[in-house]
Amino acid sequence: MNVLVGMPGTVHRLFLNEQQRLRDYGGIEKVFLGGEHIGEPTRALLQDCGVTLVRSAIYGTVDAGPIGHACSAGADGVFHVMSAIQDVQIVDFERDEALAEGEPGRLLVTSRLREGQTVQRYDIGDSARWISGPCACGLSSPRFELLQRHGKLVRIGTDFISLTELAQYLQQTPFQLILERGPDGRECMRLFSDQEPAQVHRKLRDYPTLNTLIQTGLLTLQVERCAVERFRRNRHSGKTPVLIDTRD
Ligand SMILES: [Zn+2]
Repeated sequence: MNVLVGMPGTVHRLFLNEQQRLRDYGGIEKVFLGGEHIGEPTRALLQDCGVTLVRSAIYGTVDAGPIGHACSAGADGVFHVMSAIQDVQIVDFERDEALAEGEPGRLLVTSRLREGQTVQRYDIGDSARWISGPCACGLSSPRFELLQRHGKLVRIGTDFISLTELAQYLQQTPFQLILERGPDGRECMRLFSDQEPAQVHRKLRDYPTLNTLIQTGLLTLQVERCAVERFRRNRHSGKTPVLIDTRD
């Protein structure tokens, strides 16, 4: 076996837990991932175990299903739209207007064949831009480059945390999140709140998505008590953002 296909979170856990065995084996050359880019520490870990090629092969979400696929001609992070089943739009961050090629915006998905649920102009929380011109692989389906997350939904592992929902579970008490990637490549959420940490943990236990991420080891949550006026400020604007994402 020299090729591994999997979700980024699972692949990461596998290489983390079975590091020694995989390094001794040294035979896994290619890793194809379903999902977004992986962080630099994870990439380094894979390379350290002998992997020479890491590619996001498929892009999609649990709700909308597969949205795009990579091809042999594209750079990492570039996907062809699965036009037979999905409509993809890229719109302005503020206004609901379709963007011209090359301009980054919010990626919206409408699933044509999803039977279990209606997925219409679903804002995944990722930003992207259209790539112009024909692709060297010969496919005529449109291509987009996946860029970073935008504010409302935060992608963690293969799931999303909604800042609005988080605020609801915290009963609208002020909070600030700092997302970091730990030295082991795992995502770490530091939550600043003026409430008692135990109380915050108790409230957040009711948020199923967050709990699953914590229980499966994809995320560690650290609650720190901090007065609101001591929340971190943006150096330029002086504002205190709800989310500071320092992951790559
Ligand atoms: Zn192509």
